Amino acid sequence: MTARHLGVDVGGTNCKLAVVESAGDRPGPPGDRPRLLATTTVPTGSGEPGEVVERVAAAAAGLLAAHGPVAAAGVGVPGLFDEATGRTLLLPNLPAAWNGYRLRGPLADRLGVPTALINDARAFALAESRLGAAAGCSTVVCLTLGTGVGGGVVIDGRLRFGPHGRAGEVGHQVIDPAGPPCGCGNRGCVEAFAAGPALCRLGGQASPEAVFAAAAAGDPRAGAAVQAVVGRLAVGIANMVTVLWPERVVVGGGLAAAGGQLFGPLRRAVVAAAPLVDPAAYEIVPAALGPAAGAIGAALWARERAVTGPPGPGGVTGGYGPRR
Ligand SMILES: [Zn+2]
Repeated sequence: MTARHLGVDVGGTNCKLAVVESAGDRPGPPGDRPRLLATTTVPTGSGEPGEVVERVAAAAAGLLAAHGPVAAAGVGVPGLFDEATGRTLLLPNLPAAWNGYRLRGPLADRLGVPTALINDARAFALAESRLGAAAGCSTVVCLTLGTGVGGGVVIDGRLRFGPHGRAGEVGHQVIDPAGPPCGCGNRGCVEAFAAGPALCRLGGQASPEAVFAAAAAGDPRAGAAVQAVVGRLAVGIANMVTVLWPERVVVGGGLAAAGGQLFGPLRRAVVAAAPLVDPAAYEIVPAALGPAAGAIGAALWARERAVTGPPGPGGVTGGYGPRR
C-alpha cells in the first residue's frame, strides 16, 4: 500500500514543495520506505501571507497535476505556530502580518486535503532521519547551522514533536548561563555561541564561508573563531549524545558546507566532551538532502500526523485540528 503526501516549506526567499510516496503501514524504521517523487520552488515574493498562500496553492496545483493525488499536506514554517488554531505566531524572517495569521484552514481549503503544520527545523530532522543522512537509524539528533541553530530529535523512530511542535530545540540549550544574550530571551544558548553571526563576529569576516576560508589560509583570528565555535557546538552535541545515545548526529545548514574543516575537529571535541558514550556508537555526519529537506520532512509529517492522530477533534478539510 502506497500513499503520497505534499510538503511545503515556507521560507523568507522561496517556498519549496515536494511530493513524497511512502509504503509500509507505519512511519519509521523498519517499515518505512519513503521516496521523493518531485520538487518545485516558487519565490516567496512580498512575503505577505495572502500572497504566499496564493503562490503555494498555484505551485501545488501544478505539481499535483503530474504527481498527485495526495492524502494530506504538511507545511513547514520558520518559527512558532499554535497547533490548535492553525495560526502562525512568530516568524522572524517574514512580515509581521504572519503573527496570528490563520494559515492552516485557508491553505487546507485551497489544497483540498487535511493539512498539518510543523516547524521547519523539525521537518528537516524528520526528512534526514527517514530518507537522508540518517535513513534507517532509529534515534537521531539533527542540527541546522545558519543564522540561527535549529534542530530536531527522533527517538526510537518517532519525531519528538511536543506541544505545538516545540520540542527538539537543540540550539537553545544553555551551555553557559553567563554567556551572550540569545534571540530566545535566554543567555548562553548554543545558538548564541555557534550560529553564523557569532562565527562572523569572532572571525572578523562578512560570512561563515569567509571565516572558514581565512582559517584554512592560516589567519589566526579566523582559526581561533572556528575553534571557539566548534568547542561550543561540541558541548551542545555531547549533551545530546550523552542523554539520547543517537546512532547519528546530522549537521546541516550553511556552516556544514565547510565539510572536513568543521566535522573533523567537531567529532574529536564531541568525543572528548561525552566520556560516558562509546565513540563507536555514533557518527556525526553532514545532511544529505540539501535545500529540499524541509519540504520533504513536511510531507512526511503529513503522513505521520495522520497515523499518530491529531491533538484534538479533527476537521475534515480544515486540517488536523478544529477549524477557527
Ligand atoms: Zn536561545
